[in-house]
Amino acid sequence: MAFELPPLPYALDALEPHISAETLQFHHGKHHKAYIDKLNALLPGSGFEHMSLEDIVKRATGDVFNNAGQSWNHTFYWQCLRPGGGTPGLALSSALSRAFGSVDEFKSTFVKSAAGNFGSGWTWLVKNRDGSVAVVNTGNAGTPLTDAVTPLLTVDVWEHAYYIDYRNERQKYLESFWNIVNWPFVEENFAR
Ligand code: FE
Repeated sequence: MAFELPPLPYALDALEPHISAETLQFHHGKHHKAYIDKLNALLPGSGFEHMSLEDIVKRATGDVFNNAGQSWNHTFYWQCLRPGGGTPGLALSSALSRAFGSVDEFKSTFVKSAAGNFGSGWTWLVKNRDGSVAVVNTGNAGTPLTDAVTPLLTVDVWEHAYYIDYRNERQKYLESFWNIVNWPFVEENFAR
């Protein structure tokens, strides 16, 4: 069975002015779609064709891993965003304060990590097995799904995520990101 591009959980222009409709049109409709199409093309005869996307990400290598990882990472990223943003609730802000000093210091650490993530990749907030939280970078299609942690929040720092709106200014994209973080989704992940 082929994987399908999941629809965006909001309208194309819902994240403006922080992320434009044009960016979403390309990022979701072209880039994300291409990863899913390529994965579907690679699956027949691969031994992975009856697995869930998560299981493929955890077991595959090479091109299958790259396209499965990017398919999963993008679906997760769309869910991390919503128009209007918000603030983290009590349980999560307490965990952020324990790890980073305060929610604001978490944001600075996350932005610094994402700005310094060399080349193409993703920056994540994850929950460790002991319930503590941490910021990690992955490169290219890398994803914390393959580690013993729970992904809570991610930002895509591939240039295709911000080049139309911010050109080369990744830092501006990252600062704008906080206006559209879907904190209820992050909290759901934290509670799991
Ligand atoms: Fe992307």
